Amino acid sequence: MSEEKKDELKPSVSFIEQFIIDDLKEGKNNGRIHTRFPPEPNGYLHIGHAKAICLDFGMAEKYGGKCNLRFDDTNPVKEDVEYIDSIKEDIHWLGFGWDDREFYASDYFGKLFEFAIALIKRGLAYVDDQPADVISLQKGTPSQPGTVSPFRGRSMAESLDLFYRMNEGEFEEGSHVLRAKIDMASPNMHMRDPIIYRILKTPHHRTGDTWKVYPMYDFAHGQSDYFEGITHSLCTLEFEVHRPLYDWLIDQLMTSDYRPRQIEFNRLNLTYTMMSKRKLLELVQEKKVSGWDDPRMPTLCGLRRRGYTPESIRRFIDLIGYTKVEAINDVSLLEYAIREDLNLKAPRVFGVLDPLKVVITNYPADKVEEMEIINNPEDESKGTRKVPFCNEVYIERDDFMENPPHKFFRLAPGTEVRLKGAYIVKCESFLKNESTGMIEEVYCTYDPATRSGSGSEKKVKGTLHWVSARHAIDAEVRLYDRLFDHEDPAGQKDDDYRSFLNPGSLKVLSGCKLEPSLKTAKKLEKFQFQRLGYFCVDYDSSEAYPVFNRTVSLKDTWAKVNK
Ligand code: ATP
Ligand code: MG
Repeated sequence: MSEEKKDELKPSVSFIEQFIIDDLKEGKNNGRIHTRFPPEPNGYLHIGHAKAICLDFGMAEKYGGKCNLRFDDTNPVKEDVEYIDSIKEDIHWLGFGWDDREFYASDYFGKLFEFAIALIKRGLAYVDDQPADVISLQKGTPSQPGTVSPFRGRSMAESLDLFYRMNEGEFEEGSHVLRAKIDMASPNMHMRDPIIYRILKTPHHRTGDTWKVYPMYDFAHGQSDYFEGITHSLCTLEFEVHRPLYDWLIDQLMTSDYRPRQIEFNRLNLTYTMMSKRKLLELVQEKKVSGWDDPRMPTLCGLRRRGYTPESIRRFIDLIGYTKVEAINDVSLLEYAIREDLNLKAPRVFGVLDPLKVVITNYPADKVEEMEIINNPEDESKGTRKVPFCNEVYIERDDFMENPPHKFFRLAPGTEVRLKGAYIVKCESFLKNESTGMIEEVYCTYDPATRSGSGSEKKVKGTLHWVSARHAIDAEVRLYDRLFDHEDPAGQKDDDYRSFLNPGSLKVLSGCKLEPSLKTAKKLEKFQFQRLGYFCVDYDSSEAYPVFNRTVSLKDTWAKVNK
């Protein structure tokens, strides 16, 4: 193959990766690459975070660098240890690790406090006694300079004294803040003397009541990067306008030519999905879903319970890539990624969700045959399994019609179908409950010469899945659909996202009939129920009470059945 051809086949490199390649080539930061993933422990991770994780950990892995896990725990009011544990579990599940580099912004509260003191001493920060809303009004608008605070000119000694006393708990929350002294006329609002410290009296889950003042995100984030030797601080586009402040603060800290570089990329947004942690927490608290790991949630634990694999999520992230333009990705691309992955991995099995009994009248009532069925046509190494067959089987209720339309290739009076992996059967008659109109049983005869694998030449147009009525296990199957029925549920100005909750997002089917091999399926084990979709064993499942979640439906691939 020519070199040009090979180049064409190489996966394209994102603009961020190109920056990293260039920085390494130029020998910046002694040729090191060190990234970090900085979640705030105020909720569970969602698939948007996976996009950041794959980049932060992925780039470090690819270029021989390191990636730190750093909890951005600067707000004791909203944060919780429960979230810390779940975040670690989810990152590991995606396939990434951080060795012993688990850090917390709170590790640096001491250093940050000292840095704030240093800024005051250098005339670059001052204590403001005005309330936050007044400060906010004085900021002005992007086209008009802000109003200078009456406290901006206060002496260094006075600010220093007040700042120490703020931290000793002498003042009420909201009564004083520490502000960086930068430029009240800057076209960038974040440079107009931003607040860098505020008083909070809630104890912190790691530092207890050591501190009464806490750094703002902007004052903690870049400095934490600097303290950890981060070289590439990758974050989402909304932080682009914070970058001048990030750089200004790093300028005040720098003592060598090492400096972290912030690069922004577009957030992941998905159709029919809401991604904000705050709103996801509302869904949980208002019991609109069963918890953070409800299989309809876009959280990583929800997707895991739904049956998504880490590989499928990483593949999806690869497919969408990283750009500088906000966009909304189609959730069907995520569904494509899981189908593609499970197609190769998931064994095929028989499960009937809405059973209708078929009696094969010419099959001996006491006979049972073990039909040998291929586990995965995509992967011969997965072998075959035995599935019992007898004179009574269940088929899907909608695979039979008393008065079928033209081109209905399933079962109907007088028609023939193949029971997958078994025999061709012909419908001779049926029993109907005249008062309800329900079909109660269908009577067929089978053709003994048509056993699958016997070399029989006979062909029919329809092939149905089935389970032996005498051997089937009963199960509950949960069918999930999109949680919202609006493409952009959180983006509608006048409407609450709650009004777009899809009332049909969960259907619970009991009395489903599954082939007996599924009795011992383990939690989170994944299967393709033939002709129906991919399913995964739910946490609620037990041998006595099997429960399966539908991960995603299937595009019909093997049956010539038109639904
Ligand atoms: P949310 O807006 O959902 O509450 P967040 O940005 O507040 O999320 P953090 O815990 O601060 O959540 O996020 C940790 C990292 O994950 C940040 O670097 C953030 O930029 C990134 N991130 C969060 N949401 C997304 C998303 N939808 N797409 C890509 N990256 C994201
Ligand atoms: Mg955040």
